[in-house]
Amino acid sequence: MLNSFIVMLVVGCILGFVLAVASKVFEVKGDEREATVTAMLPGYNCGSCGYPGCSGLAAALVNKETDTVNCRPCKSDQRAKIVDYLNSTPGPDGETLKVKSI
Ligand code: SF4
Repeated sequence: MLNSFIVMLVVGCILGFVLAVASKVFEVKGDEREATVTAMLPGYNCGSCGYPGCSGLAAALVNKETDTVNCRPCKSDQRAKIVDYLNSTPGPDGETLKVKSI
C-alpha cells in the first residue's frame, strides 16, 4: 500500500514537471493588442458589429480582417481611443495597423 502510494506520488511529480516544461517550451504568444482592444470595447457582446461579441471584433481588427471600428454602442471618443491605440501600437511583427472609426 505504501509502495503504491510512493510510486503514484513520484509518477505524478514527474508528469507535472514534464507538463510544466512543455507549457513553457510550446507556449504560443498571442497579440497583446487583441486583449487590450477587447477591454476597450463596451463588452455588450450584442453582435451588431457583425462579429460574435466584442472579442470577435477585436480579433478581426488585429488580424486585419476589417479596418473599421464599427461598434455602434461604443461612444465616439472611445472609438477614437481604439483607433489611436491600434494606429500607434506595433504588433509582434513590428508593424502598426491602419484602422478607422465609423
Ligand atoms: S457592436 Fe460593439 S458592443 Fe456589440 S459586440 Fe460588437 S464590439 Fe461588442
